[in-house]
Amino acid sequence: MNHTVKLRSGDPFPVIGLGTWKAEPGAVGQAVKTAIRAGYRHIDCAAVYGNEAEIGQALSELFQEGVVTRKDLWITSKLWNNCHAPEHVLPACRKTLGDLGLEYLDLYLIHWPIAFRHEMIYPESAADCVPLSEVPLIETWKAMESLLQQKLCRNLGVANFSLTKLKAILQQSREKPQVNQVERHPYLIQPELVAFCREQNIVLTAYAPLGSAGRPEHLKQSDEPVLLEDPVIAEIAAKLGASPAQVLLQWGMARGTVVIPKSVNPSRIAENFQSLELKLDDESLKRIDELNRDRRYFNGGFFSFPEAGYTPEALWD
Ligand code: NAP
Repeated sequence: MNHTVKLRSGDPFPVIGLGTWKAEPGAVGQAVKTAIRAGYRHIDCAAVYGNEAEIGQALSELFQEGVVTRKDLWITSKLWNNCHAPEHVLPACRKTLGDLGLEYLDLYLIHWPIAFRHEMIYPESAADCVPLSEVPLIETWKAMESLLQQKLCRNLGVANFSLTKLKAILQQSREKPQVNQVERHPYLIQPELVAFCREQNIVLTAYAPLGSAGRPEHLKQSDEPVLLEDPVIAEIAAKLGASPAQVLLQWGMARGTVVIPKSVNPSRIAENFQSLELKLDDESLKRIDELNRDRRYFNGGFFSFPEAGYTPEALWD
């Protein structure tokens, strides 16, 4: 299958990338090196993951060793929720670029449609948050647009934007988002959002494509189904001599989304990349579509501060 999808900007966006959330310092650099040597050309980063400096060191070593050049790679990063005020956007982008040791990002995303006070990385109460009425998303977006003009990034996008928020930003912005990065896997197929993005030529990046089993316990719900253990996925995988992870990733790509599985394990990093070569027939694809149960592993409950206007209902409006 094609290894890239073309964005409206014309840039080729690799359809599989390495996720780096929870990839621990001390392990993430090696994971990035393993992935790039295995053929990955897309790394999904974020300032809040706290590991961009180590990723930058790994990239610099790969460049020095001549394994790849900057142009061969696609590097995404994300603006954290405490930098939504327009005056904080440029410094946040520069900090990420400094940590990654890069002159530009291929894609920069607003990480969540939620704003925190600048000194707050993870809020504990509504007082640590800033209501969107005080820092409207469009003001953050306009500051992001100026990064494009300064050539600090090549493409802009959003993450965790509902249909309503995506429509609002499309109406108000000069540069339209090229990408919306949201949770997507067979238990959460989001048909309306996927169809709208396709219609608007916005590429949807699927995070947690394997069901994010490695999340910290405090982010898990007690009744969570384990996607990697789904019996239909296991049956299709066994029939094809593939792994459940490969089936999940190939389904995501076959359905037109970009997938960013995280792993720090060398054999799983390689296994996930090889999903590009797997072939799923129409019947298998349809059976997987039918697994949908509108289940969000990331339900937004961890950012629920009603006094500041943040609730899961408002988030996924
Ligand atoms: P995920 O990629 O669905 O799952 C990662 C978990 O699966 C890890 O525990 C990993 O463990 C394990 N794993 C990886 N490959 C496997 C395989 N072949 N077989 C069995 N287990 C496997 O979850 P995620 O990390 O939550 O999401 C992926 C990426 O999306 C993140 O890393 C991040 O870059 C991005 N993301 C973005 C947002 C956002 O708000 N925009 C939110 C969440 C995630 P090992 O490392 O031990 O292999």
